[in-house]
Parts: sequence; structure tokens; C-alpha cells
Amino acid sequence: MSELRFRVVETAFRKKAVEVNLPAERPSEYFAKYVFNRAKMFKYLSNSVYNKLIDVIDNGAQLDRSIADEVAAGMKKWATELGVTHYTHWFQPLTEGTAEKHDAFVEHDGKGGMLEEFSGKLLVQQEPDASSFPNGGIRNTFEARGYSAWDPSSPVFIVDDTLCIPTVFIAYTGEALDYKAPLLKSLRAVNEAALEVCHYFMPEVKKVFTYLGWEQEYFLVDEGLYAARPDLLLTGRTLMGHESSKNQQLEDHYFGAIPPRVASFMKDLEVKSLELGIPVKTRHNEVAPNQFELAPIYEECNLAVDHNMLLMSLMRKVAREHGFRVLLHEKPFKGVNGSGKHNNWSLGTDTGVLLHAPGKTSEDNLRFVTFVVNTLMAVYRHNGLLKASIMSATNAHRLGANEAPPAIISSFLGKQLNQVLDRLEESCNDELINFADKACMKLDIPQIPELLIDNTDRNRTSPFAFTGNRFEFRAVGAEANCASAMIALNAAVAEQLTDFKKEVDALIERGEPQVNAILSVLRRLIKACKVIRFDGNGYSDEWKKEAAQRGLDCETSCPLIFDNYLKPESIAMFEKTGVMTQKELEARNEVKWETYTKKIQIEARVLGDLAMNHIVPVATKYQYSLIDNAYKMKELFCNEKATKLSAKNLELIEQIAEHNNFIEENVAQMIEARKVANRIENEREKAIAYHDTIAPMLESIRHHIDKLELIIDNQMWPLPKYRELLFIR
Ligand code: ADP
Ligand code: MG
Repeated sequence: MSELRFRVVETAFRKKAVEVNLPAERPSEYFAKYVFNRAKMFKYLSNSVYNKLIDVIDNGAQLDRSIADEVAAGMKKWATELGVTHYTHWFQPLTEGTAEKHDAFVEHDGKGGMLEEFSGKLLVQQEPDASSFPNGGIRNTFEARGYSAWDPSSPVFIVDDTLCIPTVFIAYTGEALDYKAPLLKSLRAVNEAALEVCHYFMPEVKKVFTYLGWEQEYFLVDEGLYAARPDLLLTGRTLMGHESSKNQQLEDHYFGAIPPRVASFMKDLEVKSLELGIPVKTRHNEVAPNQFELAPIYEECNLAVDHNMLLMSLMRKVAREHGFRVLLHEKPFKGVNGSGKHNNWSLGTDTGVLLHAPGKTSEDNLRFVTFVVNTLMAVYRHNGLLKASIMSATNAHRLGANEAPPAIISSFLGKQLNQVLDRLEESCNDELINFADKACMKLDIPQIPELLIDNTDRNRTSPFAFTGNRFEFRAVGAEANCASAMIALNAAVAEQLTDFKKEVDALIERGEPQVNAILSVLRRLIKACKVIRFDGNGYSDEWKKEAAQRGLDCETSCPLIFDNYLKPESIAMFEKTGVMTQKELEARNEVKWETYTKKIQIEARVLGDLAMNHIVPVATKYQYSLIDNAYKMKELFCNEKATKLSAKNLELIEQIAEHNNFIEENVAQMIEARKVANRIENEREKAIAYHDTIAPMLESIRHHIDKLELIIDNQMWPLPKYRELLFIR
């Protein structure tokens, strides 16, 4: 085994960058080559069908089934010209990935032959045999019908020989079994609520869009080294491994020169992303060795979510072509930074106004403050829920660890914006009423835009930071579907904007001028949600204490954090906004608890096997060589001298025995603890048992394995070490 390790490491370090054949055209020319976008719709559809389809896409008009056949025919024509033979409904079940089942275009022609067929019926709706996707009990397998239905707002695209049709995935009884259905509902809810509030300032606005710009962090590992690490292979993270003497202390990786092998991978990935219409823009090294980031230009939220899902599967594929494996796990390596997915989120109008950006006039700024304060209020009201929306067994390793956002949701605003809110809170109405028109001028708000545009006082420790014209939700996990966080945030903001409107309208009805009514409600909200604002160091212990005093959700246990979804105020919020029903929420939580349990269960099994089959035997072998040495010393030297010379080795022999004993005993205990937990029927209780009893054992067993790694002969150690895994040449 040791020989294998050296061979694998040597091969990994000798690998050269894979040559990429970059397209001769410019990105603007090959962008969206494999997407049935508007230009292609225009080319392949008749004018009237094109117009009807655009109406569905832009205005959410009901899809007229009669046009489906022609749309399908147009898509098929375009796709077959590019050599496509299959199609699939592409959906996002409650696992973190995507699902697809490919069918060929072929049908019998009735004359003993075949013809290529793709009807509107097949485009619009299908019934995938998908009974084994997580559904939290909504679909019993005997009535396992689930439907996938076309989402025209996200364009179809081609991967290899397959036409992929983005779809929602719902149960026979109508409940959502995926992320896309509730996401679309949350986008509708925000549009409706924000539009009403927008009309105070801009009556001409017809639609409010939600924008998302994600930043995807990831690690790359050589595929040979990866294959020699069963823990990486089976769980996505290293369950053992002592820190490398050098990791990120020197901060020499961040924004550093990109190694040629990696640069080649990135170029290839970018070309393929652009061809699929993913507007990738930024790439750089991240903080940890072997860690990188990729970010596109922001897009409408539904499309951005699809693009992120697509990108993740593309990354996995392209990485293999370059002899790498991409790690999207939130914490693949202990002791170095984990990976997240920063979700830059904002609202904007069809008239091109970013609602979370300050403007030039005082009215613009009152609108800006209105949307910022309502967002803060929503985050305050549902801070526990927002944490639940990004929580998972894997992200739990990152949150609250030293370098990631803490397991407490708070919002960083920066000095200027805090001053604006403080001033607004303190000013009294009398003072404002005197300035009937543009009352807020007196708050010096007009001076703010210039200052805010250069919003440089960034805070990397905040999970929800204002960054000039948007909020950046940074606690999202690298592997997660962005939709989970976006559904919760959109729904919470929609609820809050609706409540705000009601309150303002009530004051207006009582004769209050509109500006005063808005200001007075804002003032109340600023006071009410003050505790969510925190600009200090989110990693510090003082903050944990202070946050608890402020009444923010400080729970750190993953299964208990999920409870937030079933709090009465969460259920009420999701139902009022029409995003999810209580039944859906309950089912989804079942899935969350079950997934949590399974992940810890797999980790425990893998660690147990590795400990007993890889580590303990090798440690014993090395220990034996030390024992042998001690005996032979006695043959060579007099007893006294031999004892003296072997003193250090005897210590090591003892240490190895102690570590081995601990590992063996604890692996046995862990197996027993699993048996106990597995007997628990209730998914929540079972997840809690796994969290409370089994997860801590993973850590303690690992501790002893990592100590052994420091003692055992390097030649014998069976697994690639951190220093080998983490430094691509
Ligand atoms: P950072 O400086 O935080 O690394 P960037 O400035 O590169 O980030 O932007 C990060 C992401 O935020 C990009 O995807 C970018 O398109 C997106 N973004 C910029 N403005 C907005 C906005 N108003 N709404 C949503 N996303 C935005
Ligand atoms: Mg960022």
C-alpha cells in the first residue's frame, strides 16, 4: 500500500496541463450556442407562436397547450441539426443534485420503421418513474406518481446528445417534490409584494425581478490521489489527515498565480459554460491551497439557480477530463478554509432600477432605504429559518468553524448605511412634515449615494452583508442548491413587504401624507429589527454571547435547526405567501432529517472501516518493528545501555498501543451507538441521536488517527497525506 501511495503521488505531481483547444470564435460568438434562446426561438418558431411563448416567459401568461406542438417541433429541429438524439426532463429533486432520464426521439412510424418524434405533450409534461427520490412520505411507493412539468422561463439546452428541458417535479396530489416549484412560487410572491411597494415611488413599474449572482467555491484534487482516499471517494471529505506543516498561513494562495493544470481546467470549463449560456466572468484562487472560485454575471434568480446546478455537473465532468476531481463538499479538509456559495441577492424592476441600490434623488433614496429596511426586518423575523435554509450535515462543518460565517444570522451594513438608518430612527416626524415634498432631504440622504458606491468597508465574517447594491448571503454551502436559501429569503421578504404596505396604507387612510407614513413605519421597523445588525467580528466568542442576549437563534445542532421550518410563524409565512403548505414543509423536514442521518451513518461506516483495515494494522506493524528493534538492542548492548537507547522507542510503542486501543474501543462503541440510533423510528429523533452521539465520535477517533500519522513511518502510511493532496504542481 505504501508503495502505491508513493507511485500515486509521484504520478500526480508529474502530470502536465491538458491542452485545451480554445474555440476560434470570440465568447460573444459562441455564447449560448447550445441554448434554445430567444434568437433560436425566433428562427425556429412561427411569429405568432414566438410571441405567445415570449408572453408566457415574460409575463407569466398561461401556457397555451395548442402552441406546445409547434414549440416542440422547433426545438427538435434545432436540436437534431446539432446531432441530438435524446431529450430529458431535467429537474431538481430534494437531493443536492439534478435528475434526468433520457428518452430517444424515436417512435414507430406505423409502417415497421422509425421516425424522430417529439410532441408538445412530451415537452409539457411527463411522469418519470421516480418513486425513489426523497419525498418525505408525500408519495407512498404504491401510488408513486410524480410529474415533471416544463418551466418555459428557463430555456432548454443541449448537453452531449441530449436536449434538456428544465422542469418542476410535483406529486400527483400537487405537492412540490423539488426545489424549482417553490422557488418559482417565491419569485411570484416577491414580485407581487415588491411591486405594490414600488408603486409608492415608481407607478410605472410593471414587474419586479429577483436577481442572484452566486460565487462558487471549490477544491480540486488529483484523481489518482482522490482514488487512494476512500473517505473522499465515499463521503466527499477527508475523515482523517493531520494538518500539513504549511497550509494557508502565508496566505500565498489567495489571488495567487493559477497553476497551469488548473488554468487549463478553468479555461475549458469556461468555454463549456459559456456555450451553455452560463455567463461566467470571474475566476481566482481562494484562501486555502487547491481552493478556487468561479462567479458569473448575475441573472434572474430562477435561471441563476439552474445555471448553478448545471455548472456543478459540468465542473465534475470537465475536472475528470483534466485528471482532477472537484470537491464541492463544504469542508473537505480540516484546518483549512471550507467552501461556500455566496448568494448575491437583489431586487430590480422592469424599468432597470435596482431596488437595493441608492440613487441620485431623495425619493430614490427613500425607496432604497425602504427596501433595505424591509429586507433587514424579514431577516430578523426569520433569522432561525434562514439558517435552517442553508443548514446541512456537510455545511455544519463550515458554519461556526473559525473561517466561515457563524451559525448565527446577522447583517453587516457598513458605516454609512448604519448612519443613515440611525439618523432616520432618531429624527422626529414634526421635523419632516415641514418638508412636505421630499421630506427625507433633511436626513442628508442625498449625500449617501456617492459614499455608498465605494462601499469598501467589507466584512468577511458576516453571513448576510450589504455590498453596495445587493445583499450577499454567504452562509450557503458550496454543494447546496441555491434555491433553498432563495426560497426562504424571497418568501420572508415578500411577507414583510406585504405587511409594510398594509401598515403604510393604514396611515395614509388616516390622512397621513405618503412620505410621512412611509418614514414613520420605517422608523418603527428600524427599531424593531435593530438586533439583526452587527458589523463586528462574527467569528468572536463575544458575538456568540451577545447574539444570544439579543435573542437571535444561536442553535448549532443541525437537526434542531431544521425545527425552524415548522415553527408556527414559518408555516404561516410560507402559507400566506403561497410558497409552501404545511404538508410540504413537514415532508421536506422528514427528508432533511433522513438525509442528515444517512450522511453521518455513511461517514461512521467509512471511518470505522478505514480505522480497522488501514490504520490500526499499519500502526501495529510499525509498532512491531519498534518492539523488534528494542529486543535486538538488548542483544547488541548491555541491558542498561540498551534500555537507555531504546527509551524513546519504548515510549512510542506505548503511545501507539494507546492510540490503537482508543480507536478499536471507540469504533466498537460507535457501531453499538449506530445500532441504538437505527432502532429509533422517528426521523427527527434519529437525526438528533446521530448528531449527539455518533458525530462526536467521528472527531475523537480521527484525533487519534491523526496522532498516529505523526508517529508512523512515512513509508508505511497507507493514505495520501494533506501535504500531498493539497498542493497541485
Ligand atoms: P466579490 O467582490 O464579492 O467577490 P463580485 O463583485 O465579483 O464579488 O460579484 C459577485 C457576484 O455578485 C457576481 O456574480 C456579480 O454579478 C453579482 N452581483 C453584482 N451586483 C449584483 C446585484 N445587484 N444583484 C445580484 N447580484 C449581483
Ligand atoms: Mg462576494
